[in-house]
Amino acid sequence: MKQNDAEKDTILEGVLAEFAKLAAIPRKSGHEKAVSDFLKDYLTGLGFTVTQDEANNIIADKKASAGFEQAPLTILQGHMDMVCVAEEGYAYDPLKDPIKLVRTDEFLSAEGTSLGADDGIGVAEAIYIMKTAKDHGPLRLIVTTDEEQSMTGAIRLSADHLKDASFLINCDSENYDELTVGSAGSLDLDFTRELKRVEPETSAAWQIEVKGLRGGHSGERIGDGRGNAIRTLAMILTELAKKGEIELASLTGGKARNAIPNDAKAVFVTDIAKEDIEAVIKDQQERFMQMYGNVEQQILVPLTSIEAPQNVLKAGDTQRLLRLLTILHTGVYSMSSVIPGLVETSANLGVVNMSEDEVEIQFFPRSAIDQKLDEFRQYAETVAALTGFTAHIGTQSPGWKENKDSRLAKIVAETFAEQNGKPMKVETIHAGLECGWHFRKNPKLDMVSIGVTTKDIHSPNEHLVLATVKPQVDLIIETLHKIAKL
Ligand SMILES: [Zn+2]
Repeated sequence: MKQNDAEKDTILEGVLAEFAKLAAIPRKSGHEKAVSDFLKDYLTGLGFTVTQDEANNIIADKKASAGFEQAPLTILQGHMDMVCVAEEGYAYDPLKDPIKLVRTDEFLSAEGTSLGADDGIGVAEAIYIMKTAKDHGPLRLIVTTDEEQSMTGAIRLSADHLKDASFLINCDSENYDELTVGSAGSLDLDFTRELKRVEPETSAAWQIEVKGLRGGHSGERIGDGRGNAIRTLAMILTELAKKGEIELASLTGGKARNAIPNDAKAVFVTDIAKEDIEAVIKDQQERFMQMYGNVEQQILVPLTSIEAPQNVLKAGDTQRLLRLLTILHTGVYSMSSVIPGLVETSANLGVVNMSEDEVEIQFFPRSAIDQKLDEFRQYAETVAALTGFTAHIGTQSPGWKENKDSRLAKIVAETFAEQNGKPMKVETIHAGLECGWHFRKNPKLDMVSIGVTTKDIHSPNEHLVLATVKPQVDLIIETLHKIAKL
């Protein structure tokens, strides 16, 4: 074996050995105690100074190598939790079962489940680097909890762990040749209204479904011009209501605030004739394809005759709900005036849940500019007042504003180009990163986000590209060398 290959194998095997330790411990978001305890003991055993905080975040410090004590403190950061999903029919208890690793020449994946390379591989490489790097300044590893759900770990992390550092390398990105230097903030907005129900006046009952849409992540895909199933269904019902009375029994759709809804369903009674309902659906399907046909393959709107429901919403409640669902702007608001092609502000009409006596709508604006999110608070209150709903203003996650003068971004980009013979793609993303919270606590902290290449994250098909592990480790180690000599 040539020396180069041997070195490559040492690094890859070393990082994968760290990853295997994490994969053995169930670590679903919100259930990180076991993995946090493991990290505390393991990193202490390696000789680092370790703190476990109240949110189960782990902070581990390693002294500078001899001669580099004066170098600026650099943080390596990742998250310990993972999204746990399994193939249909695969027996998997995310609170008890370890991840079973499957390795080929090219990829690492998991048997039947998500792999947790997001962000286990980021944490594994950071631990490997903490263990093996030489000639570096003071290092700190921060491993947070609950990133995938609510970023509780990053939110609760004490500013004390960030204030004495100059640089932070977040290891939670998905492409080894991309350098992320900014992210968007977001605001959790909900609208609720109590419902009054009455007996239906007619007995002809129908179910309309809107499905077949692409959906997708509301940060990454909102600029693609995809259709929204909830809005489309609300438009169909609004048009129908112009033809005659419709009494709504239920309207539901979407799965998560941050996912573009790809299905929605309504049950209603009406005496509008079947062919008139079908004509409205056909019109709206055509309108939809005019608007989204370049992006969406199809839209299916099956109409089914069903048994009459026991009760329906009072007419006023139906009207208010449809007004709200058609007035809430969903999609792109504005594009960045600085970065071509980047969405600056967007909102996603994500979920409608309905019970017997309440309806809840989840709405999710994102913006690169925090002050725009302040405007959404007012917007929510105004829209709620106009439509008879109550607005609930939830967590506002801060954006991470791009720093044009970032020394760290310059070092990382230059090092990548030297090592790989091609430039790194530098980007600001229209999605949230933990860096937003770090930025709020220490606006002077110079940060980048990078990562080993992973595909299909948050799905049972999640896999990582083994060939990108060593380049990523080399990039971080050489960056640390350059920082040590600053
Ligand atoms: Zn992640």
